[in-house]
Amino acid sequence: MTPTPLRSIASKLPAGMLYGGDYNPEQWPEAVWSEDVRLMREAGVNLVSVAIFSWAKLEPRPGDYDFGWLDRVIDLLWTEKISVCLATATASPPAWLSRAHPESLPVDVNGTRLSPGSRQHYCPNSRAYRAGGRRLIGELARRYAAHPAVALWHVNNEIGCHTHECFCEVCAADFRTWLRARYDTLEELNESWGTAFWSQAYGEWAEILPPRKMPTFRNPGQVLDYARFMSDALCDLLAGEVAAIRLVAPEAKVTTNGMVFHRPADYHRWYREVDIAAWDSYPDPAGGIDEVQAAAFTHDLFRGLRGGQPFMLMEQATTQVNWRATNALKPPGQMRAISFAAVARGADAVMFFQWRAARAGAEKFHSAMVPHFGTEGSRVFREVCALGAELKKLTGVCGARVPARVALLVSWENRWALEVESKPMAFDYAAMIRSYYGALWDLNVAVDVVHPDAPLEAYAVVVAPALYQLTRGQAESLRAFAQRGGALVMSYFSGVVDEREHIWLGGSPGLLQDVLGLAVEEWQPLPAGESNALVVAGRTEPVACKIFCELLHLRGAEALATYAHGFFAGRAAITTHRFGAGEAIYVATEPDRTWLTTLMSDVLERHGVKAPVVAAPGVEAVVRVGEGMEFLFLINHRAELAMVELGEWSGRDLVSDQACTGTLSLEPYGVRVISRARDREVSAVPRLPQASAV
Ligand SMILES: [Zn+2]
Repeated sequence: MTPTPLRSIASKLPAGMLYGGDYNPEQWPEAVWSEDVRLMREAGVNLVSVAIFSWAKLEPRPGDYDFGWLDRVIDLLWTEKISVCLATATASPPAWLSRAHPESLPVDVNGTRLSPGSRQHYCPNSRAYRAGGRRLIGELARRYAAHPAVALWHVNNEIGCHTHECFCEVCAADFRTWLRARYDTLEELNESWGTAFWSQAYGEWAEILPPRKMPTFRNPGQVLDYARFMSDALCDLLAGEVAAIRLVAPEAKVTTNGMVFHRPADYHRWYREVDIAAWDSYPDPAGGIDEVQAAAFTHDLFRGLRGGQPFMLMEQATTQVNWRATNALKPPGQMRAISFAAVARGADAVMFFQWRAARAGAEKFHSAMVPHFGTEGSRVFREVCALGAELKKLTGVCGARVPARVALLVSWENRWALEVESKPMAFDYAAMIRSYYGALWDLNVAVDVVHPDAPLEAYAVVVAPALYQLTRGQAESLRAFAQRGGALVMSYFSGVVDEREHIWLGGSPGLLQDVLGLAVEEWQPLPAGESNALVVAGRTEPVACKIFCELLHLRGAEALATYAHGFFAGRAAITTHRFGAGEAIYVATEPDRTWLTTLMSDVLERHGVKAPVVAAPGVEAVVRVGEGMEFLFLINHRAELAMVELGEWSGRDLVSDQACTGTLSLEPYGVRVISRARDREVSAVPRLPQASAV
């Protein structure tokens, strides 16, 4: 595992951890700018994202460009050696564009054309929007690509955040073109979509429409293909902007900021188009450990999008956001803890939305690095400056990798298919994944979040929650993984359909029945508030289970737990099956999280995967490995003292410069980054132990 500092990808980036935020100087008189730059210097800022929402300012009338103000801003920043992540400025088209091209406005599922006046008011396939954006990008690239301050390009902004689908006539025509590329013939499309059902057969391509509002359930194949098409359309928009930059500046390095596990956007595909992965993280400060875990999952996901190389935390809030019903603040220390948690999982940039809190507009109550209150005596600005100073001490961490022996398989394709309407129940894929991810987080075991098509040779344990859509290739890969000695963990409603939404006949998990040693005949979805229970071998108390209970036929698997209630009481609910040199565990229901953590702990132990240290609940422990050095990140996410047994770990804390050994007491929201020399190389392919009898 070779360390990959972001500077080795984009050589104009500053050395060390990147620190800063979105900078929107166009919202302020120029007199404020010099104070901004002075305060940035004080806060340790070395990178700012500029011009994200500046189209109307840069091109006030069609073809009439005004770059003077941006020239002055970038030059001023560079006097203090503050680098710029320059946006393509296309996130919010100007009023003149939608007036001249009303067809560029998006149309929702009900056929309503949306109005300008907020942001992201464009159809992703609009030719006028795309062409206008590319013209502006060309001008920006010609003027600024060679500027020493411009280190990176920020392509568009949170693409697909609000407008992630459009149902206009342009999209309808483009959808038909997309379908003709996917299906050789109309007969093939009819077969794939199952149009023999409900008399839906198409006789001509022109008859096919986007899945707009319909009397009842829409055709699942059509809905799934439209999700694929819209994700591709948004990705094509991204790729088009990247191409417009590189047409002028072929060496330019680019990123774009994604959002969580955003349903409409297949980031596995999107992030092939850019050089660096980046995302915007806004965990609810009042949401407790669940929110911390959701953010950690997304860090692991984004690290995986570019093969494990470091990513950028492109946006977060210093304290409050403005868009929840109730917007909690971050108490002293929490912003720091959340920031270090990102760095622990591979972020080499900690950035905020935004530098100076806006005094007008829809986001004026969104916190910023410089609050409305001002900087003098400000708790928020004090914490911003302290974090900037601490991150400077982590230069040696830059580029370090996060080695993991556990893979969690996640795909957007699977999510779209699973969440198409008309299922045994309304599934929430993100929640189904979070149970398993949360258990692994609680155990402080490093996880790679990867696509089900990813190579699995490097892993000892593979967890595939709700892998509803299973392709032949994925089934072969999972079979080979277990055969070689790995532990495969799968959960309910897996292996149900192929990539066309056609059922694998004979019972789920379809092509993996032999690997798991079972077949599912029936299932019982449980309404919210209802539960069943599990009788677990060797345990006197039953374990609650909820959401879904599958009824299994065992074909070689052994039961680890059985259902306690209902006509299927006594039948297997959790099973294990020896397969080749490995084992395959099946969890046919949603067990209580505490017990699920115990189950996962047993599997990990059998396969030689363990946490780096023993820590109190709520403490995150993650190891990053660099060139000859390794770094143990410890983050206490609770507002109370927490103990950590360091065991064999000892070294110097990069933050406090104190030696750490033995038992450590972490203050509320406390962090440590314990560094030590590394005398052994990380094996890219861990040895897989033989599975022991359960
Ligand atoms: Zn459209």
